[in-house]
Amino acid sequence: MRPPIPAVEATCPKCGQLVDSGRTTYCPNCGGALITSFPAVSILKLLGAICLGLLVLPLGAAGACFLIFSMQGRIEWQLLGIALGLLSVAALCLWGVIKLLKR
Ligand SMILES: [Zn+2]
Repeated sequence: MRPPIPAVEATCPKCGQLVDSGRTTYCPNCGGALITSFPAVSILKLLGAICLGLLVLPLGAAGACFLIFSMQGRIEWQLLGIALGLLSVAALCLWGVIKLLKR
């Protein structure tokens, strides 16, 4: 007697047919490759998110420093430009982290 294999139900991305992705990687209806849960992809995503997350902090801190420096006395437009540039890159990284971690 074989132990029962838990059925993993998924729909084919091509034709929408309900298939058991735990037993096959190809759709029996249209032959298209099924997107099953690949742990490597999520680890890669997680690593990317961590890398971006690590970038956010120094970029944000540097941007804040430039912002403070530029605001002292008269406004230094060059420093303000660098500050805004760094802060927008930090914001972009943060957006990337959210995008990567959200499904
Ligand atoms: Zn199909």
